[in-house]
Amino acid sequence: MRARIVLLVVALLATPASSTILAKSKSSRTTLNIYFIDVEGGAATLIVTPAGESVLIDAGWDGADGRDAKRIQEAMQLAGVTTIDHLIVTHYHRDHYGGVPELSRLVTIKRFYDHGEMTALGEDPQFAERYGAYQAAAKNETITLKAGETISLKNVDGVPPIKLLCVAANAVTIDTKTKPNPECNPGLEKKPDTSENGRSVGLWLQWGAFDFLNLADLTAPIMSGLICPDNQIGEVDLYQATWHGGTLANNEILLRSLRPTVTVMINGPRKGGHQEVIKLLQELPASKALYQLHRNVQTTAEQNTPAAFIANLEEQPDDGNLIAVAIDAKKGSFIVTNSRTKRSQSYRVK
Ligand SMILES: [Zn+2]
Repeated sequence: MRARIVLLVVALLATPASSTILAKSKSSRTTLNIYFIDVEGGAATLIVTPAGESVLIDAGWDGADGRDAKRIQEAMQLAGVTTIDHLIVTHYHRDHYGGVPELSRLVTIKRFYDHGEMTALGEDPQFAERYGAYQAAAKNETITLKAGETISLKNVDGVPPIKLLCVAANAVTIDTKTKPNPECNPGLEKKPDTSENGRSVGLWLQWGAFDFLNLADLTAPIMSGLICPDNQIGEVDLYQATWHGGTLANNEILLRSLRPTVTVMINGPRKGGHQEVIKLLQELPASKALYQLHRNVQTTAEQNTPAAFIANLEEQPDDGNLIAVAIDAKKGSFIVTNSRTKRSQSYRVK
């Protein structure tokens, strides 16, 4: 594994980041772009389609002088979009939807999606205030996403249609028969879970042969419904490590079933990025690279991915570097850029 990592590092292309991070003007877009924005252990993933439509999955934390909303706005500028066409709030935890009110003051958000209305959340003493601020930002016009529904996106001529499918929401998963997953042991099927993480909206983006999976903070008992007894997702090219790269949400069976080519861990310096998950991903035969938004400062350099694949090495000062992905369906490849090193690496779509 060490030799493979060294080879990969050596193979990093000296492509200036500007050519791979910056999206082209609307009329000349040929790629699908995904930006993993550093919101310090929260979540904010921006997708810009070849038609120039924008989808934001989660909006980071509230507070910190609007830090996360500003970082999302900066990423939007990089991506060449001025409005959010679709904002998907995966669940009502502060690190995922706290930043919505602040973001709504900076940019126009056209549609708001979530897993449904809630009146109380035991673990958040400020839930009423936070949820109220979210609903006010959405002018109480939120759309409830259900497993199996798609978010309608515009297509452009000459490239494959794009599909964004909700695979999990409010503790319910899609239920399609494919074929039994040999990785599953008996007893691994879906189990009840009433936690807020278990209600996370999970999204599967498909563009041609390219697959990106973002399950937010979905828990293992619910996620099992996607993987066992049938693997309904199949193998993915790009995987946002669930629950910021925490152990409970990233078991070996899940990772061996999804076989991600590239994983991006949206961890903070002291949140997520668990060494056991990093090790599992590094030892996964199908895995070509693991990127982290932050170095986990609580573990050793060897327990993190190599520094070239980390967007933010220090806890302070924190530059808020991001990981950008540009997918070219026609070429059958995708390029991942670390905005800190300004270096890019190309990977084949499966
Ligand atoms: Zn979270």
